[in-house]
Amino acid sequence: LTFTKGEGPTWSGPGDRPATRRIDGMGLLTIGEFARASGLSPKALRLYDDLGLLEPAVVDQQSGYRRYRPGQLAHAQLVAWLRRLGMPLARIKLVTSVSGADAARDVADYWRQVEADTSLRRQLASTLVDHLSRKDQAMTDTPTPLLLRYAARSDRGLVRDVNQDAVHSDGYLVAVADGFGANGDCASAIALEALLEHRATTGDVLNALQNAALRADEAVREVAAADSGTTLTALAWSGSELAFVHIGDSRAYLLRHGVLVQLTHDHTVVQGLIDDGTLTAAEAESHPQRATLVRAIHGEQPARPDSFVQDAQAGDRYLLSSDGLHGTLRDEVVHAVLAEQQNPQDAVDELIRHVHTAGAPDNVACAVADIVEPVSRRK
Ligand code: MN
Repeated sequence: LTFTKGEGPTWSGPGDRPATRRIDGMGLLTIGEFARASGLSPKALRLYDDLGLLEPAVVDQQSGYRRYRPGQLAHAQLVAWLRRLGMPLARIKLVTSVSGADAARDVADYWRQVEADTSLRRQLASTLVDHLSRKDQAMTDTPTPLLLRYAARSDRGLVRDVNQDAVHSDGYLVAVADGFGANGDCASAIALEALLEHRATTGDVLNALQNAALRADEAVREVAAADSGTTLTALAWSGSELAFVHIGDSRAYLLRHGVLVQLTHDHTVVQGLIDDGTLTAAEAESHPQRATLVRAIHGEQPARPDSFVQDAQAGDRYLLSSDGLHGTLRDEVVHAVLAEQQNPQDAVDELIRHVHTAGAPDNVACAVADIVEPVSRRK
């Protein structure tokens, strides 16, 4: 290795080391030389020293000048590469303090997480693009008046002593909540109450729903014990589009043109294992942690719900359900009932009847909402 670039004292090997450098002994590099050799800036090097991430070999007591050993370059370059990956400094400190094999695993873990986050953000970006382009369109198009037709029901099931699931439905807001813990029934009820109380029917429907969900979260945290909380999956109807908020393992589905699509992503330990390829969806069905949530509204910390917007088409049918429904019935059964039953109330009743037939091991919350043209316009 030779370090000859730049101005000032240079060192290009033991043979022509400048005399002044011998006073330091050991062929130490100044911070400027070390910066040039490692590709890190002197400013970054000072920061990393302060953080204990990359400490100089020697710091002059009087001048405060930092000196580095050439042998520290490999470490510095690893830091520089990890920074280029976007890894946070605290995590770099961990990665660079363990052995090669452990560090390799940490970097792989980190990257899997980045890719998972990116895929969520990709979804959000495309939703926003749709949402914003529809806003312009809505100003020029004559809006088609559409209506929401709805039904909802919650049921204790055949095994549990109390019903901790809750539902709400009206012409603007449809929601399910699945409470857990000692005050799970309160948590789900309070979340829906707060959602209703703080909803706004004017302005941006997504913002309004997100805001109402934050209020619901605050309301639950005020009263719920640390171990109690609730899931929340809700839709708000603007007359032309639907906004969704979602946290936990309740779900929203859309039946459009005969195809049933799950719109939400479960916030469970098991879904995380499916996402990173550790489990298949089939294996997950019998996994002991299938109901363990990684995100929910609960007493401990502020919730981070997902949110998105869907355009509305006449003929669309939405299903919101707690895991007492979609965890008990096979997708084919849910699909068949939604496709066969004409009106939302019949669909809800029939779904809950199927859950009972299957033993109803958990509470059930179920809401069905149809996008319909007003009677006068229907053919
Ligand atoms: Mn449940």
